[in-house]
Amino acid sequence: MSDLLERLRARGWRLTAQRRVVAEVLNGDHVHLTADEVHALAGARLPEISRATVYNTLGELVALGEVAEVGTDGRAKRYDPNARTAHQHLVCGVCGTIRDVHPDGDPLAALSPAERFGFDVLAADVTYRGVCPDCRRD
Ligand SMILES: [Zn+2]
Ligand SMILES: [Zn+2]
Repeated sequence: MSDLLERLRARGWRLTAQRRVVAEVLNGDHVHLTADEVHALAGARLPEISRATVYNTLGELVALGEVAEVGTDGRAKRYDPNARTAHQHLVCGVCGTIRDVHPDGDPLAALSPAERFGFDVLAADVTYRGVCPDCRRD
């Protein structure tokens, strides 16, 4: 379970009503919302929250390293509260649903020294692609 709110409290991030609602909307597992989705969900709880506030808050959370941006090619950027937990993504090519997955082994270790080309390799993002059960027609 993502503990975004707890992490933000521990960092002393000033939790205004608007920031809290954005963080609450993002809290959880397998959460990968677009900025527009965050705005719609936050607006249901706090009708006066503006799109600009949502975008600014998302930008701050990314800058803090507490929320990760997930790019899924050709679709809107998504925001992932599990920024502190190493995981990879499983993406449905039809509807764009994303699940957090934890493959066996360390993806960094899978790259041999010869293929590192002298780089200090710091992270690996692996995307598994497929068709989710809702989109699959049996
Ligand atoms: Zn799907
Ligand atoms: Zn994720």
